[in-house]
Amino acid sequence: MTNFADRSAPRAAPRGARAAAMAHAASHRDVPSAPGGRVSAFNPIAGRRFDRPGRRAACAMLRAVAVALVVSFPAGAAAAGAAPPAVAGRPRNVIFMIGDGFGPAYVALAREVAGRPLALDPHLVGSSATASSDARVTDSGAAATALACGVQAPNLAIGVCAGGLPRRSILEAAEARGLATGLVATSRITHATPAAFAAHVPKREAEDDIAAQMVRQGIEVVLGGGARHFRPYAAGGRRDDGRDLLAEARRRGIEVVADRDGLARAGRGPLLGLFADSHMSYAFERDAAREPSLVEMTEAALARLAVDPDGFFLMVEGSRIDHAGHVHDAAAAAREAIEFDEAFAASLAFARRDGRTLVVVTADHETGGLSLGRALDGRAVYDWRPGVLRGVRRSATAMAERVGRGDDPRVVLAEDAGLADLSDEEAAGIRAAAGESRVLAIAEAVNRRALVAWTTTGHTGVDVPVWAFGPGAERFAGTRRIDELGRAVAAALGLSIGDVLETAAAPAGGAAPRREP
Ligand SMILES: [Zn+2]
Repeated sequence: MTNFADRSAPRAAPRGARAAAMAHAASHRDVPSAPGGRVSAFNPIAGRRFDRPGRRAACAMLRAVAVALVVSFPAGAAAAGAAPPAVAGRPRNVIFMIGDGFGPAYVALAREVAGRPLALDPHLVGSSATASSDARVTDSGAAATALACGVQAPNLAIGVCAGGLPRRSILEAAEARGLATGLVATSRITHATPAAFAAHVPKREAEDDIAAQMVRQGIEVVLGGGARHFRPYAAGGRRDDGRDLLAEARRRGIEVVADRDGLARAGRGPLLGLFADSHMSYAFERDAAREPSLVEMTEAALARLAVDPDGFFLMVEGSRIDHAGHVHDAAAAAREAIEFDEAFAASLAFARRDGRTLVVVTADHETGGLSLGRALDGRAVYDWRPGVLRGVRRSATAMAERVGRGDDPRVVLAEDAGLADLSDEEAAGIRAAAGESRVLAIAEAVNRRALVAWTTTGHTGVDVPVWAFGPGAERFAGTRRIDELGRAVAAALGLSIGDVLETAAAPAGGAAPRREP
C-alpha cells in the first residue's frame, strides 16, 4: 500500500489541483461564492438555483467535477480493514466474474466481431487501476490476490502479500460464514486467478501445492482444467510427491468428473470437474463431446450453489482471453471474450430470476496492448476490419501446430483463417519461425489484414472496466484500485478479507504455508 501511495501521489496531486483550478476559474466566471468564500456550486443542490443558460452549463460542469471528486477512489487507503457500511438490499449471493486480460479494447473487439451489443454493455459502472505492490504492470498472481484478498501483492504472489504472509480471501471468508462457494475457470484451476481465491503460495508456479490446498478448502464446486496437478506421475499426472488428490477428494465426499457427460450426470453434492490435463481448449478447438463450455460450467455451478440457504460466492474466470492476447491472436481473443460475455448473460439471467444476487465483472489487467486500428506501412488507416476476424475458425496456436506437422502455411491460413492472399514472404516467415514465434507470425498475417495491433507479449498498465448488476451494484461506480475493488466485493456480502491467516511462524521473506488441518 505504501508503494502505491508513493508512486501515485505525485501523479494524483496535479490532477486534484487541476480540478480545483477548473472549479475556481468557473466560479469566477459564473458562480457567486457563498458567504465565507465557500463555492456554493460545489453543492449540487445549491447549484440548481442558477438558471441562466451559461450558468446552467457551468453548474452542470461543476456538479460533474464534484461528483468525480466524491466518486474517485471512494474507499481509499484508510478504508482497509474498516467494517463495511450498512447497505439496504445487501445481496445474498455474489458472482464475481474475471475476464483474464479483458482490457477495454477487447470489449470493443468482442462486440464488433460478435456483430451485436454485448450482454455486459448496459452494466458498465466503473474501472479498476491494476498496478501491483511492486510493478505498475501487474501479473495475474498479484492481480488475483488483490481481487481475492483485497490486498496489494507483489507480482507472482498467490494469496500472500509482500513478506509472504497468507491473507484471507473472499472465498475463505465466505466458507467461514457458511456460504457455499465455487470456482470456475477455463485455464488450469491451479492457475493464478482461481488459485488466489483458495491457496497461499509466494510463487504462482507452485501449482501442485495450490492443488493440495484447494482440495482442503471445502469448496462446493470446482470446475476447470489442470488435472495433471491432482494426480501423481504413476497415474499420468505431474505430482512428484505421489499424492493422488482426486482419490483424496473422493474420500472427502467430493464427486470427481472428467468430461462433459460426467458433468451433465453429476449429483448435486460437492463436485470437482477437471476436464483437461492442462488448460481447457480454446473455444475454437473445443471438442464438445469432451469439454463443457464456460457457459455450461457456470450454469452447472449456479445450479448447485443456489440451493444453499445461506447464499453463495462463485468466481468465474474467462481465463484464455489472456492466453490469446499473449500471442496476439485477435480472433481467438474475440471468441474467448464472446464466450465470457455469454457466461455473463447466464449469470445475469440467474441474478434477475433470483433477485438477491450481485454480479460483478472485471479484468485482472489488460494483455498485449491491443489496439483497434493501426498504421500500415507508415500510413494511418481510419478503419479496422472485424470481418477478417470473423473469417478465422481456429486459434493461431492450432494453425502453427498444423504448419509444424508439415502443412503448407498458404493452405493452413486459407482453410483456417480465410486468408487466400498470403504473400511468399509471409509464408516463408511462418515456415521458418518456430514455437511461439510461429504463432505470432500467423497472428500477424491476420492482424495486418484486420488492422489490429499489439504493443507487447506481456501485460499493460491501462485501467480495466468494471461491470455490476444486482443489489449493491451502485457501490462499484467510479475508478478504484484493484485491491479496493476486491474489498468492495467482499463488503457487499458483509465479509472482511485480507487479514493475516493464523500460521506457523513465517520464515523471513519466505512463504508461510497454511497449517494442515
Ligand atoms: Zn491475468
